[in-house]
Amino acid sequence: MKKQLLLIGGGHAHMVTLANLETFVAKGFGVTVIQPSEYHYYSGMGPGMLGGTYKPEDIRFATRKLVEAKGGRFVLGKAFSIDPEQQLVSLEDSKEALPYDVLSCNAGSSVPREVLQGDTKNFFTAKPIEELLLARKTILDRAAGGKITIAVIGSGPSSVEIAGNIHQLCREKAVPMPLIRIFAGRHFFAGRPGRVRRLARKILTRKGVDILENGYVQQVENGRIMIENGQEYTADIIFHAVGVKPSPIFTRSGLPVGPDGGLRVNQCLQSVGHDNIFGGGDCIYFEAEPLDKVGVYAVRQNPILYRNLLAALENKPLEQFQPGGKYLLIYNLGDGEGILSKWKITFSGKPAFYLKDRIDRRFIDAFRVKP
Ligand SMILES: Cc1cc2nc3c(=O)[nH]c(=O)nc-3n(C[C@H](O)[C@H](O)[C@H](O)COP(=O)(O)OP(=O)(O)OC[C@H]3O[C@@H](n4cnc5c(N)ncnc54)[C@H](O)[C@@H]3O)c2cc1C
Repeated sequence: MKKQLLLIGGGHAHMVTLANLETFVAKGFGVTVIQPSEYHYYSGMGPGMLGGTYKPEDIRFATRKLVEAKGGRFVLGKAFSIDPEQQLVSLEDSKEALPYDVLSCNAGSSVPREVLQGDTKNFFTAKPIEELLLARKTILDRAAGGKITIAVIGSGPSSVEIAGNIHQLCREKAVPMPLIRIFAGRHFFAGRPGRVRRLARKILTRKGVDILENGYVQQVENGRIMIENGQEYTADIIFHAVGVKPSPIFTRSGLPVGPDGGLRVNQCLQSVGHDNIFGGGDCIYFEAEPLDKVGVYAVRQNPILYRNLLAALENKPLEQFQPGGKYLLIYNLGDGEGILSKWKITFSGKPAFYLKDRIDRRFIDAFRVKP
């Protein structure tokens, strides 16, 4: 029986492995990829798709097509749990369990939904990115009938980008501009450099976005938003963009995890409990130095993960991942405007978005299935 490489998720950290899948096949290894969708969406361009800068097909990778073209097996489904003793991964809604000799996990993260009670209609999370596509349609349908209120809960990059891109969407489609309200907890865009915060506030305020800093949202129920100080608001459409949690697969499976529930890995991106389990992206907890949940790290992990998976299958030495220094961040505030920040350099406007657009398109093109 061939040795089996099993990949959970075809996310940002598996791009190089997927692009080189034929190398595994040529060496006589079987490769299977599990993913709940035939496509993987590039999150960095998700808010731009909401705003209308990109079409869904501009920002996604055709994972099934790529895997099958390169001689692997694609399984449409969701990994549920891992049995490290039997070396099996079970699937949600299926009796099939997939065997592995080496397993790599890139199942990403999701936005917690604990605040939500009751009706989930018109409630959207910032991830998975497919939600933003549904949200776009709902906004256009609802806003066409008159002025509506849209709440964006959260105060990080995805909340700021979603608010800015709702403005772009409604402006370009000439529907009545909704009241867009960011529920920013106690401090808008907390944890970002002062100049970035000021620029984001200025740009969003200019677009008419209302930024509330009167406390954290405690509960959302049937379009009602309850704040910790007892105040209550209503909204027609609600976005939840409060940050992310790693996939629950690892805690569910009893594997060693970090405080956030991410698969606890050493410097070789290898589970600290099981030599033949690896991982990358938002779903891991990098023991040496906890990493921000940004795509930048998933992208940087790519070549190491690819080479280590091959090395593990061939019983060769592993390489260590170095997270690297500060990373460039560019936020898409909609209407062609961005905010760029790295080291002491911060600026906003069209040039910042132009740069983001160039970088993102280059990334997509590098890993897209070529006709
Ligand atoms: C709106 C938004 C904008 C962002 N913009 C940026 C940005 O501009 N720059 C940046 O650096 N970061 C950005 N981020 C952060 C970035 O999204 C994450 O850090 C990045 O997506 C992590 O990549 P990943 O591959 O680990 O996870 P994901 O992108 O979540 O990919 C995980 C993959 O695994 C699949 N999967 C999930 N569960 C299972 C399962 N049970 N079984 C099998 N497959 C599964 C999913 O379908 C998906 O294909 C943004 C985040 C959001 C929400």
